[in-house]
Amino acid sequence: MRRKLAAGNWKMNGLAANLAEVTALVAAHPTPGCEVLICPPATLLAQMNWQKGKHPLAIGGQDCHAKAAGAHTGDISAAMLADAGARFVILGHSERRADHGETNTEVRAKALAARSAGLTAVICVGETEAERDAGTTLAVIGAQLAASVPEGATGADTVVAYEPVWAIGTGRTPTLAQIAEVHGFLRAELAARFGAEGNAFRLLYGGSVKPSNATEIFALADVDGALVGGASLKAADFGAIIAALEAA
Ligand code: PEP
Repeated sequence: MRRKLAAGNWKMNGLAANLAEVTALVAAHPTPGCEVLICPPATLLAQMNWQKGKHPLAIGGQDCHAKAAGAHTGDISAAMLADAGARFVILGHSERRADHGETNTEVRAKALAARSAGLTAVICVGETEAERDAGTTLAVIGAQLAASVPEGATGADTVVAYEPVWAIGTGRTPTLAQIAEVHGFLRAELAARFGAEGNAFRLLYGGSVKPSNATEIFALADVDGALVGGASLKAADFGAIIAALEAA
């Protein structure tokens, strides 16, 4: 049985004042019927961890370096994230692939570092609009999945997020049939590679999830939750998405 997961990605948004949104979210959902994760900027991790015990939220990083420590100015290691209270880390987000040229090989190395630090990696895959138009969506995603998810991955240390690049922050979403097709494909690929363990990986959909479309997306087979950007910044919106997942 896969535990449903509502994951918020704050990206490069959030100052200490925005922790009020977390307080409001917790007040509205003190005992959520699904796992709830917020990945704030690293600067807020310790403050969110300070609230640990007062809320059931898991916290996570948005990236980590593949090395445990060393001369890598500006980077943060998986062990540092864990030390600050993180239990998860998002890896291979399309914004990091685009802004920092991250490759599947690098994402895989980071996933291994995350595993060593005891973090669960949320590994993102997804096609560009040009790739979808060209009919190569499944080929692109299959290649990303194969090269980004390391050998020995399990449902406990790895979550896969399908995030079509063209749907992130645009207000556009794939059709339900398109989401279902990709999630079914991801499940089949994981099962082919990892056997029975392939059924243990949680599969999240991400890309313009909001209260108005969450219920229909969560009703799809093999959608175990969502990775939410913009709508995770406001307690009311993220809370409504959590409620939709609880009801699914
Ligand atoms: C994301 O950043 O992972 C994301 C899905 O963003 P948004 O929900 O804003 O499209």
